[in-house]
Amino acid sequence: MMLPTHVLAGLAIALPVAAIAPDLAPAAFAGAAAGSVVPDLDIYAGHRRTLHYPVYYPLAATIAAAVTLAVPTPVTVGITFLLAAAALHCRMDELGGSLELRPWAETSDRGVYDHHNGEWRTPRRLICYDGSPGDLAATGVLAIPLLVLTETPVRWLVIAALVVGITYAALRKWLADVVEKVVELVPSVLATYLPGRYRGS
Ligand SMILES: [Zn+2]
Repeated sequence: MMLPTHVLAGLAIALPVAAIAPDLAPAAFAGAAAGSVVPDLDIYAGHRRTLHYPVYYPLAATIAAAVTLAVPTPVTVGITFLLAAAALHCRMDELGGSLELRPWAETSDRGVYDHHNGEWRTPRRLICYDGSPGDLAATGVLAIPLLVLTETPVRWLVIAALVVGITYAALRKWLADVVEKVVELVPSVLATYLPGRYRGS
């Protein structure tokens, strides 16, 4: 799924904190936003592998949650939601499309890498691909409670995610063609630095 969907899903799991412990909500939202983005920082080096840990993030989040229940501070809350959002991100990638330039072609069986078992998890394709109509619908559904229940600056982040998500979904298939043409023009010495999905590997 696309990054705006990850961000909104991460923010959504922090919503209960706003109702239960409003003073800890900023830490929860900040941690969740960061955790939803962090896995995809590996886009230039082993995308969906280097920073994606579908087994270890949930384990670490569970331990952090136990510590947070005992010692609820902004730091423990922030770390817990960072790990929980990163865990959710990896699960969402597995439920989405394959890792390839045109995931709607379904030629790859790589969803997300499972370091614990040393293998790629097969994409479930409940959401066909990142930026698909289903992905955009998920973004819209997640945005509704967040827009209603949050205030600035979280609400601004939700609006920004919506704008980016709508734009990305509208351009998704065209972008694949553009990327392919740009890659053809990039000198081969520089092409090795491009994400693998753009090099056909
Ligand atoms: Zn990802």
